[in-house]
Amino acid sequence: MQQPAPQASDLATRLVHHDYLPPAGFVAPQPGVHKASTVIFPNVAAMRSREWKDKSGYTYGLHGTPTTFILEERLCALEGGLQCVLVPSGLAAIANVGLALLKPGDEVLIPDNAYGPGKDLALGELARFGIRHVLYDPLDPADLAARITPATRLVWLEAPGSVTMEFPDLCEQVRICRARGVTTALDNTWGAGLAFAPFDLLGDGGGQGRAGSLGVDISAHALTKYPSGGGDVLMGSVITRDAGLHMKIKLTHMRLGLGVGANDAEAVLRALPSVGLRYRAHDEAARTLAHWLQQHPAVAQVLHPALPDSPGHAHWKALCGAAQGGQGAAAGLFSVMIDARHGQEQVDAFCDSLRLFKLGYSWGGPMSLVVPYQLASMRTRPTPHLRPGTLVRFSVGLEAVQDLQQDLQQALDRAFAAG
Ligand SMILES: *Cc1c(COP(=O)(O)O)cnc(C)c1O
Repeated sequence: MQQPAPQASDLATRLVHHDYLPPAGFVAPQPGVHKASTVIFPNVAAMRSREWKDKSGYTYGLHGTPTTFILEERLCALEGGLQCVLVPSGLAAIANVGLALLKPGDEVLIPDNAYGPGKDLALGELARFGIRHVLYDPLDPADLAARITPATRLVWLEAPGSVTMEFPDLCEQVRICRARGVTTALDNTWGAGLAFAPFDLLGDGGGQGRAGSLGVDISAHALTKYPSGGGDVLMGSVITRDAGLHMKIKLTHMRLGLGVGANDAEAVLRALPSVGLRYRAHDEAARTLAHWLQQHPAVAQVLHPALPDSPGHAHWKALCGAAQGGQGAAAGLFSVMIDARHGQEQVDAFCDSLRLFKLGYSWGGPMSLVVPYQLASMRTRPTPHLRPGTLVRFSVGLEAVQDLQQDLQQALDRAFAAG
């Protein structure tokens, strides 16, 4: 055992080697923030033998600290997984999965309505490494089935899709991939572990690995959104229920150096206890506004999976309908198609006229946000289920819903007054 440092005479030395001990017998609701790049070993033998991969000890900040280990455990509890890695953003979670599981000659399937930057990763780094990606129709399981080849190693799933909010038949998609032995990875940012259980899609507890259970193999989550809840933290997680799959992801995670900062981990830990309450509040407000907007003459279509005429609504109902005491669960996101008779300029003026909905990317924080999208550049296949028009995506925050409705009303009146 190394001895404690002797009382040094030099102040510089004493400021480094003070006799700090972590507090014993101190218990508080929130865990402490343990910050480390360096972790101190008691002796050389411990330094040589300690194993980072199985979390049996601490070795280096990048391999984890008490703060990140606790966050990993709580996220496993949230999503029903067994293993977790934390990464610096939701996009890094997507990248970690692809780079861990794919090699030259492999194919990855991505839904056409997937989170855009994930598709850019496939067009950029994955293509450069000789990995092919194929886009499939998220609303047609037969299209997914037809695109799986012997080279397909990974299928990305997203429920609902980004921006256009189509809800796929997730269970059928997973069945198709399982039957062909292809690994599935779900971008679970929207569901957040709250709207449905990604490892137990049938809700029968089968996610524990029982025969006949149905669940995804990997859940990637942009903690940036609801788990952080503040619009002020970037982080992601990759959760699994299979030790071998986790180890592949973990090894790539380590070789790429994708660690997270302790203060950010603490911010997410602090926000997690309220994530269910916040999710429900965002959901209720978003549904109120989405229903209300359906009446407006300038709005050709409202895209929100809980609305009966939204694409894939029946699949949303089957998967998420029993949550929240039977009213179903959805995130606080929806899009509208502004009728094609209004041009892009008018739609931009509408967004500029909003006062509470701020122009900004991302979602899941307390402040409501709006983004006008140019859909034509974002989809490779026709979207007959979408009415012609210009798409605007709203993320509903935690403001009073009547204030948000008034804000929408005044901006609609201003931009689309002519009808
Ligand atoms: C925001 C988002 C991401 C990426 O998260 P970042 O932390 O911003 O990188 C990934 N997937 C979905 C569906 C998202 O909405």
